[in-house]
Amino acid sequence: MRVVIVDGYVDEPTCLGVPPYISTYVRYTAGALVAAGIPEESIDYFAIDQLRREPSLKESLFDADVIFLITGMTVPGRYLGGKPITEKEINEIGKIPTYKVVGGPIKFGFTLKGGTRAKELPFEGYQLICRGDVELAAYYLGKYLVEGRELPEGVFDQKRRAKHVNTFAPLGAFIVKKHFYFPNVICEIETFRGCERRRHCSYCTEGFYGSPDERELEKVVEEVKALYQNGVKYFRIGRQPNILGYKAVKTEGEFPKPNPEVICKLFREIREVGDIRTLHIDNVNAGTIDKHPNESKRALECIAKYDTEGDVAPFGLETADEKVIENNFLKVKPEGIKRAIRIVNEVGAFKEREDGLFKLLPGINFLVGLPGETKETFRKNVDFLKSVLDEGLLVRRVNIRQVMVFEGTPISEMVKRTKTKYRKEYERFKEWVREEFDLPMMKRVFPTGTVIKDVLLEAYDGGHTLGRQIGSYPVLVRIPERMELFSKVNVIVVGHRERSVIGIPIPIEINSISLKLLSYIPGISKKTATEIILKRPFKDSLELLSLFPQLEPLAKHISFKEGAQAPT
Ligand code: SF4
Repeated sequence: MRVVIVDGYVDEPTCLGVPPYISTYVRYTAGALVAAGIPEESIDYFAIDQLRREPSLKESLFDADVIFLITGMTVPGRYLGGKPITEKEINEIGKIPTYKVVGGPIKFGFTLKGGTRAKELPFEGYQLICRGDVELAAYYLGKYLVEGRELPEGVFDQKRRAKHVNTFAPLGAFIVKKHFYFPNVICEIETFRGCERRRHCSYCTEGFYGSPDERELEKVVEEVKALYQNGVKYFRIGRQPNILGYKAVKTEGEFPKPNPEVICKLFREIREVGDIRTLHIDNVNAGTIDKHPNESKRALECIAKYDTEGDVAPFGLETADEKVIENNFLKVKPEGIKRAIRIVNEVGAFKEREDGLFKLLPGINFLVGLPGETKETFRKNVDFLKSVLDEGLLVRRVNIRQVMVFEGTPISEMVKRTKTKYRKEYERFKEWVREEFDLPMMKRVFPTGTVIKDVLLEAYDGGHTLGRQIGSYPVLVRIPERMELFSKVNVIVVGHRERSVIGIPIPIEINSISLKLLSYIPGISKKTATEIILKRPFKDSLELLSLFPQLEPLAKHISFKEGAQAPT
């Protein structure tokens, strides 16, 4: 028997599954099959990028008894680690003459671009379409396979509960080893699913999951242990709409009160699992912080204590225009977000290493194209960001995306057109953010001399290599030289762009570093770089610094291995 999981990738507000991320869907589906009695050896996993690159893998799909295609992008972005499945590829897999199941957030509709209305696909050739949860379907199908019964066809609409996740999640941990990024994969971890608000933000699909269904803390930790035992060292506690809502205490109002004791215990116990290299979070509801500042602050202090550096608490402001906020039942007003930004700065804007990354910083998400938006909306957004800059606050990132419309969300009844009417203002807003906000903020958050550790090199951009730490919203590092992909390096920040930093690998091998890299070091002109190259090899820092004292700030990162090369 052979079951193949094809990962077309997922990206939802509460679950990322584009490499290096491996989503909960894939892992739970594998675990559900094991729970049903299918041996691990009979379960294969291929990411869509692998199928594109290796035709033999694609051919091997023809030998499978069952194929699970898992995909769905409700908040598609631009990705470095992989390219999500296309409609054409979904149709091609549909033509393979074997039993096929399709599941994941694709049940909400298909689109790969913001500013569009998601369309329903016909899923021709697929025997089972999961409108419910694919992992639960996998469990039942697994049972049918083990018992040799005929597999059912049609629509599967049952939903799983937290108790199912608790069983499937640790059993599915083995699948991470089959990911083409392994061991450099990061696992999204679920604490609960569903939104705690009674009325949902107009554009959001989380309401489809119903009210919060929480996992027990011990079960979350048990899953992390299972993944760790299978070689995973990178985790993001991101599969929930609001980490401060986990085990929160119900109140009369819309926002339950955070439970700092539980949050502390969760992060402490996860950190104690072993040598965890990344422990980050995703999704913080600024409305919770605004309504319950004391409990939120204590919970965030704990997160900042037990997480790893470079963590981000992203807030969905969506817009600084109060009229648009009201129109779309959004969760928080601009002054509430400002309060939340201040609190995260108070508890998280510190470093454990002098030249390291800030521990926990806020992020801000904007959404363009919401009903009620006017030209004035963009001016208010700019004013809000200016006030953040003027107050000297730190923000790790600003994300601007266009609204996407999914049938069944309130917004699908509110708008006919999906693109913003104010194209020019939108473009100008983006440009302002990149030039006037992102660039100065990059310099504040990653000052020259910052050392970013374990940067995974993932792609080339002309003569540059692009890499990132494995974490939540890691900064893009641009190394001005081609280096071996999929290796990891430590880099020192030597420059800034709007969306990335320029870094050079450390230790700096002064006797072999290229002219190009040398001339990126602050204070080293091309002429000086040439002189350095002509005068090498250098024996030690005494010799080097006596001739080139401007290298003093980098002295502790310079190495003197032999191997000088001619100027390039
Ligand atoms: S608060 Fe709004 S954006 Fe957040 S999960 Fe609930 S409905 Fe979605």
